[in-house]
Amino acid sequence: MPQNILNVGAEAAKVNVLGLTQAGLEHLFSGMGEKPFRARQVMQWVHGRLADRFEVMTDLGAGLRAGLASIAEVRAPAIALEQTAADGTVKWLFRLADGNGIETVFIPEADRGTLCISSQAGCALNCSFCSTARQGYNRNLASHEIIGQLWTASARLRALGYSDRPVTNVVFMGMGEPLLNFEAVVSSLDIMLDDLAYGLSRRRVTVSTSGVVPAIHQLREACPVSLAVSLHAPDDALRNELVPINRKYPIAMLLEACRRYVGDEPRRRITFEYVMLRGVNDAISQARDLARVLRGVPAKINLIPFNPFPGSRYVCSERTRIDAFRDALLAAGIVTITRRTRGDDIDAACGQLAGEVRDRTRRSGKSADGITVHGP
Ligand code: SAH
Repeated sequence: MPQNILNVGAEAAKVNVLGLTQAGLEHLFSGMGEKPFRARQVMQWVHGRLADRFEVMTDLGAGLRAGLASIAEVRAPAIALEQTAADGTVKWLFRLADGNGIETVFIPEADRGTLCISSQAGCALNCSFCSTARQGYNRNLASHEIIGQLWTASARLRALGYSDRPVTNVVFMGMGEPLLNFEAVVSSLDIMLDDLAYGLSRRRVTVSTSGVVPAIHQLREACPVSLAVSLHAPDDALRNELVPINRKYPIAMLLEACRRYVGDEPRRRITFEYVMLRGVNDAISQARDLARVLRGVPAKINLIPFNPFPGSRYVCSERTRIDAFRDALLAAGIVTITRRTRGDDIDAACGQLAGEVRDRTRRSGKSADGITVHGP
């Protein structure tokens, strides 16, 4: 059936407008000989009203709608599984077109709704306490796959009876290292912040990084959203073990990048994430060391109780120890909170996301810094 084969080829070449910034859409329209302001209309339809077909975009002429449908599409990753936890946390497993699975989590709270999204299929960084690391790395997500998580979550939450704008905050704390997928992440940020799309403020969008120093500098130039840094240890010897990218970008270099990121913006602070591992990084002396290394960095600390997963070699610190660790940091003058574990009954908690990735890395062949990635 040659006709079918031709159609399949044409489908594959369509631009997915979910991943286009307003500037990208303007470019698309210019290429069609259309006025660039059409981009504004399409942004509003696709992200504001969550339209998935050009047919419904009635303020565009019929000819333009047909023209768009022949070269473009609005296609989000397919939902393979949707689960709701006892505490209202919702987790989606998405199946990407190439078969990889990624996960996204919505965390409702009284005053906000936070969506935790993935930036890569798997992760190459190999942090010793993270289950995403276990499944290896496959590839970067495209911007339409990143925005597709927000778009689908918004539509599903609406259908589940949440408010019209359920997602008020986005955190790049799902699978993957966002700063190793820089371009697609920055395009996605652009769309999230666009008033015609999701209209989120810079402060309500957080990129979490294990410490890719050059990209921290670049992010500051490109789109200075809130920054979270996975620190997890107060000294290089321990951090090398827990977060192997530290061998490439050690703590002093990382904290210097953090200071620069904040610059002289008043009230701006970096969030430092610190997973509580019993007998590994939870001694009170380590809390004091942590306070000392963070001196001079506008910081707040999120202590994350370790979430176990099958085969993990760590145990979570005892509650009393987490409290004492927090108190030591507070006494040193650092704003510290203990992150509440959410959605652990559906494996939606930090470090439990594992979307069945096809690993393309050969871990044994990897360099010691844990980030060199080879394709098959
Ligand atoms: N790669 C990015 C973002 C993803 S991880 C980063 O490293 O920041 C989001 C947070 O969950 C990170 O702070 C990560 O270190 C933490 N985390 C990973 N595994 C965990 C686990 N098993 N228990 C608790 N937190 C975990």
